[in-house]
Amino acid sequence: QGYYTRRGGVGESGDFVTSPEISQVFGELIGIWYISEWIATGKPKAFQLVELGPGRGTLTDDILRVFNQLASLLSKCDVSIHLVEVSPKLSEIQALMLTGGKVQSNPEDESAYMKGVSKTGVPIFWYRDIQDVPPGYSFYLAHEFFDALPIHKFQRTEKGWREVLVDIDPEVPDQLRFVLSPSGTPATENFIQPEETRDHVEVCPEAGVIIQKLACRIEKDGGAALVADYGHDGTKTDTFRGFQNHKLHDVLSAPGTADLTADVDFSYLRKMTQGRTATLGPIKQREFLKNMGIDLRLQVLLQNSRDAATRKQLLHSYDMLMSPKKMGDRFNFFALLPHHRLAQPDKKDKPESKAPLPPVAGFGELLLK
Ligand code: SAH
Repeated sequence: QGYYTRRGGVGESGDFVTSPEISQVFGELIGIWYISEWIATGKPKAFQLVELGPGRGTLTDDILRVFNQLASLLSKCDVSIHLVEVSPKLSEIQALMLTGGKVQSNPEDESAYMKGVSKTGVPIFWYRDIQDVPPGYSFYLAHEFFDALPIHKFQRTEKGWREVLVDIDPEVPDQLRFVLSPSGTPATENFIQPEETRDHVEVCPEAGVIIQKLACRIEKDGGAALVADYGHDGTKTDTFRGFQNHKLHDVLSAPGTADLTADVDFSYLRKMTQGRTATLGPIKQREFLKNMGIDLRLQVLLQNSRDAATRKQLLHSYDMLMSPKKMGDRFNFFALLPHHRLAQPDKKDKPESKAPLPPVAGFGELLLK
């Protein structure tokens, strides 16, 4: 039925709400992360910011505000935005949010299906697939994207791995049910890691393919990828869920009307980089945002806001993002970086260039000088 292509209910009036929709601080800190990586790699002359599944466009909008505030720093850098979005409805909402609706559809000279210019003058392009995004030094962003991609489910049985399939219930009309495949399937042959110890696993091969593409692109052209999602490092089993109007919803009832989601298996993503890039994380959202300086940013916003209602709202959204029981512990950050960003090649011949590499922001404690 195409939930995202027809409905795509992100936001308070939809089926689920995400961190960028809760607080502007979230996107601002992610914007700072990219600027920090850009500086650490010697301020290349141009970079593309590529967002996978931008939802309502709020995250990119907040990041663009940071880029605009740091315009003097970026003045000599050619910045462009590339959005990978399959949903016609959401791409319209993104266009409205980011450009005020002034976009050109199917531009002849581009691989994009739509293009426009942000309110701050940055060119924006829309694609259906990451492979249409032009090559070049790029920062990739996937926030609550991988959890939306389809998974295969497998159950270990006495007779070996069996795939969990969806069947029509023969007893109840219009009702679907889960069944186990009577024998192995091509998916049980191909998608289960030989060293797997769990009895039930969910594998998202599409996520694996996209991570492979990102790793190849970063290895070749440089840049970094930041993946933020709820997930685990290869430990959880049955996480497939449906959400409608912010409430749990049976995944098999009324297909296409609910958001379907499965936790991201970061151990699988790491494996799918095939060693082409280094990886950092997953670390908890609470730690990442703290390391990025969220407490300082909150203090500044609180000092600058005059009315009590705004201050209350700022504290409430901080709690949503950071509280272990809310999003703080459930969401994780994971990064792909070129190997040379983390480990200096052997500098025996050039002892003078042994300056330590700057730390990657967010993944270590924030040290204020
Ligand atoms: N990043 C946003 C939205 C997350 S919802 C936020 O955090 O608020 C998931 C997003 O991924 C939606 O924009 C949806 O339309 C998009 N999407 C889902 N499947 C996709 C696919 N196969 N390719 C590209 N985008 C996809």
